[in-house]
Amino acid sequence: MIVFNLGCEFGHRFEGWFGSAEDFDRQRERGMLECPVCGVKAVARLPSAPRLNLVTTGMAEPSGETSSPTPAANEESASRARMLAAQIAFYQHLRQMLERSDDVGERFAEEARRIHYKETPERQIHGVATREETAELLEEGVAVMPLPFIVKRKNELN
Ligand SMILES: [Zn+2]
Repeated sequence: MIVFNLGCEFGHRFEGWFGSAEDFDRQRERGMLECPVCGVKAVARLPSAPRLNLVTTGMAEPSGETSSPTPAANEESASRARMLAAQIAFYQHLRQMLERSDDVGERFAEEARRIHYKETPERQIHGVATREETAELLEEGVAVMPLPFIVKRKNELN
């Protein structure tokens, strides 16, 4: 078994265990790899250089391809596992919220305003807005929460 440091396009880092480097290539080509945090399939192998810190561990990484980590590395991967678990819980919570809210797509800014000005019944919505639209909404006092990643649409969940 070998361990690779992997990362998704949104900067989440995680470890993948593979029988061999070819095994990794094969799984990636078939789209079998997926980020455990956000679920995207755009997963790449990261260099095992220390202090890449896409996710804040603040500690040196163990060398990527060893199968007998030192005790320090064990501690580190335990704390990383806890952090990852917290991240996963957060994203799952977010997904549940999204499933209960209306996807208004490109009309997000318009709908958020209508709700804010009580032109339409209050409800939870989500959708896409440009940076400028988001800034305008926040200026007007419309409560929106920009999400730091591209959220999968409802019909793509599961
Ligand atoms: Zn991810």
